[in-house]
Amino acid sequence: MNKIGIDLGGTKIEGIFLDDKFNVIERIRIPTQQEKGYNSIIDSIVSLVNSLKKNSDDIVSIGVSAPGAISKKTGLIKNSNTHCLIGMPLKEDLEKVLKQKIALDNDANCFTIAEAVLGAAKEYNVVFGVIIGTGVGGGIVLNGNLHRGRTHIAGEWGHHTLRIDGNKCYCGKLGCVETYICGPALEKRWTTLTGKTEALPSIIENIDNTKSGLQWKKEFLENFAIGLANVIDILDPDVIVLGGGVSNIPFLYDEGRDYVYDKVFSDLVETPILKNQLGDSAGVFGASLL
Ligand SMILES: [Zn+2]
Repeated sequence: MNKIGIDLGGTKIEGIFLDDKFNVIERIRIPTQQEKGYNSIIDSIVSLVNSLKKNSDDIVSIGVSAPGAISKKTGLIKNSNTHCLIGMPLKEDLEKVLKQKIALDNDANCFTIAEAVLGAAKEYNVVFGVIIGTGVGGGIVLNGNLHRGRTHIAGEWGHHTLRIDGNKCYCGKLGCVETYICGPALEKRWTTLTGKTEALPSIIENIDNTKSGLQWKKEFLENFAIGLANVIDILDPDVIVLGGGVSNIPFLYDEGRDYVYDKVFSDLVETPILKNQLGDSAGVFGASLL
């Protein structure tokens, strides 16, 4: 069957039309325009889907990757950085206008299924997918199927507690993984240690052997390692795939991996930690696979 995948992001909405062999027939990107509100986002998605549908007269499946979680209890969006979506029945509203069933899941789950089926993890059965960007999320794919969990929170390692009296998190807890290793947290820590305000890519270029630079890197790798070692201890996945802006940091794949291995509860650790292959396209491909 032909497939449409929609990736609803904070700044852009991307859509692709795929044939049954996952060849990209058409790809469209439009701005999200969050400031215009929820109804405008619905209209944008619907017009994107209708344009893409013109590629075929046959029935298409439609999947949507959304920022934030979908409450299993209410079906409403929660924990979304696109604030106008919070508390809204996005799936139901889209189905009403499009007059067909759609699949909808959060961006970390879409990332993980995309990399597990079409990307870096396609040779592996148990896949833990990680997004480290403005937030920290995760997803689990078992033998090609998403494992969402009884209450749809499987894989949410970003809100594991690293330090019980640590940084305040928007989720209401203290010391969550996200508050230490998401992009903005890393930049903030750099400023505290060095007095300089820099974006992450330039920080990575400028880490030198100064005391504060080395401290920043050591703290980051320690936190990254404790977070992922906890996941390995519980899930023991066949592979971990990293995505999001922070995944572009090269030292996560050698030094970072060694830090992780050092903290796992086993004398044998061989979990590959791989960079994603689909890049920004994981969202649309993952959505189409839902
Ligand atoms: Zn939290």
